Amino acid sequence: MTPEYVLQHFEETEALLEGHFLLSSGLHSPKYLQCALALQYPKDAEKFGKAIAEHFVDAEIDTVASPAIGGLVIGYAVAASLNKRFLWTERQNGEMTLRRGFTLKAGEKILVVEDVITTGGSTRECIAALESNGGEVVAAASIIDRSNGAADVGVPRVALVSLDVPTYTEEQCPMCFHGDKPIKPGSRR
Ligand SMILES: [Zn+2]
Repeated sequence: MTPEYVLQHFEETEALLEGHFLLSSGLHSPKYLQCALALQYPKDAEKFGKAIAEHFVDAEIDTVASPAIGGLVIGYAVAASLNKRFLWTERQNGEMTLRRGFTLKAGEKILVVEDVITTGGSTRECIAALESNGGEVVAAASIIDRSNGAADVGVPRVALVSLDVPTYTEEQCPMCFHGDKPIKPGSRR
């Protein structure tokens, strides 16, 4: 699967919007990404899952795991393609934990899958939660890498596409400078 194919699908499903956006962080950006929209149809999720799984067909992996909620759909799709167990970590009182009775064997080899990696923070937290439960995380993957390769999660990592998503404060925003007003994603354009 080519990066162009991924981006075209994201644009067609409005998972990737171009314009002038006010992000929930308060920063402005010419791009807005909402991965969930690209994965609404199981056939699409399956395709992306297979494309990620192809990187790991020869890897020694027992289990696929994702940080909830963002990683659930794509993580499940990758696990289905590799025919491996799937589980997830989730936040409890702000801390990423393994809940719901999920347990790991000592040394269980795990692939961590996310929809988007931005700073790698949630992937790193997911890895830490899995390792504190005895797992051994051997690799990580995402559909989109918003860090343009910069995010370090401590294990080898692959992404289907790297994307540069610049963000600006209102004062620095070149679109605001030209008198354009940002919109909040989700409000109707
Ligand atoms: Zn702006």
